[in-house]
Amino acid sequence: MMTIQENISLKKYNSLGIDVKARFLCHYKTPIDLNYLITEGPLNRDIEMIILGGGTNQLFINDFEGVVIHPINDSIELVSEDSDFVYIKADAGLEWDKLVAYAVDKGYGGIENLSDIPGNVGASPVQNIGAYGVEAKDTIHEVHLVSFHDGSTMTLSNKECLFGYRTSIFKHKFKNRYLVDSVTFKLAKNPVFVTHYGNVAAELEKKETVTLQNIRDVIIGIRSSKLPKPSEISNAGSFFKNPILPEIEANALKKQFPEMPIYPASNGQVKLAAGWLIEQCGLKGYTASNGKAGIHDKQALVIVNKGNASGSDILEVSHFAQMKVFEKFDINLEPEVIII
Ligand SMILES: Cc1cc2nc3c(=O)[nH]c(=O)nc-3n(C[C@H](O)[C@H](O)[C@H](O)COP(=O)(O)OP(=O)(O)OC[C@H]3O[C@@H](n4cnc5c(N)ncnc54)[C@H](O)[C@@H]3O)c2cc1C
Repeated sequence: MMTIQENISLKKYNSLGIDVKARFLCHYKTPIDLNYLITEGPLNRDIEMIILGGGTNQLFINDFEGVVIHPINDSIELVSEDSDFVYIKADAGLEWDKLVAYAVDKGYGGIENLSDIPGNVGASPVQNIGAYGVEAKDTIHEVHLVSFHDGSTMTLSNKECLFGYRTSIFKHKFKNRYLVDSVTFKLAKNPVFVTHYGNVAAELEKKETVTLQNIRDVIIGIRSSKLPKPSEISNAGSFFKNPILPEIEANALKKQFPEMPIYPASNGQVKLAAGWLIEQCGLKGYTASNGKAGIHDKQALVIVNKGNASGSDILEVSHFAQMKVFEKFDINLEPEVIII
């Protein structure tokens, strides 16, 4: 039977290190566990519920009076292969980067650019995680689900997941209706390297050859020079999504701020860099007046817990950044972090 803890601190379960309590914390391993929760456990009554993976993209404001389901299943299985691809099924509770390390070690290509992204496999289709020109949707073959209604299982194809920029069906129609139990990835035996993004190609030139391992090493190196590690300073990565605007609006802004970076997005739209917008407001390295929360001094997109911050302290900093960006650029920054 699954482990259920009551009135437990979630501090070590969220990368912002917010000390809130959960009424119930349930450590999920198999669909049978969810079935138990629904029929006999705390989900048997009308009670709020959330799924908590690695907690690297969630901000808790208050104690959570409901049920927190935390997947801890963590196996990897090669389910099939053909001459070009392998199909690898990874459990929701497995640390994402362990899957990347496994794939790179075996010579399977497709997720090496997603090296070092914190969090677990279960959230990868939910968030459609992405970095350095690659998104999880490029290699997700199927997502295996368990229903909160009756504990039944079901599998969605890549197309059925309705992936978009940091989003999927699991953030909308299927939110809190299905738990991602595992994900099958389609990885290439003869990988096509994606090296055009940022300074990946330039860094790779310092290596003798381009290999999956070298790409992984380069990306880990770039990330650690830019992003604070949650184990060293509590944070949830990019706090805001990069705003996407119609080209006409982006061009008008570009006239006012010629040095503003812009990137092409889908449907003829244009993506702006949220971090750049915040930095232009002079907020890089900002610390709130109580000293507990602030904005990272190297990466303006990252809000940090400087010591014993509450969720409200973090939220206050985010509202301040949103207000300043709106005043200067007339743009509403939308949080990427999920606020509970
Ligand atoms: C330093 C740092 C750097 C980061 N860099 C990147 C980056 O480069 N690219 C990027 O895309 N993200 C990045 N992130 C954000 C984060 O790593 C991803 O969003 C990651 O997928 C979150 O995984 P998690 O397991 O921590 O999910 P959580 O934060 O626990 O949950 C995220 C969402 O997924 C849902 N969820 C989690 N598990 C399941 C499940 N099994 N079934 C159904 N729903 C589930 C949760 O309910 C929640 O809605 C970064 C974060 C940090 C702290």
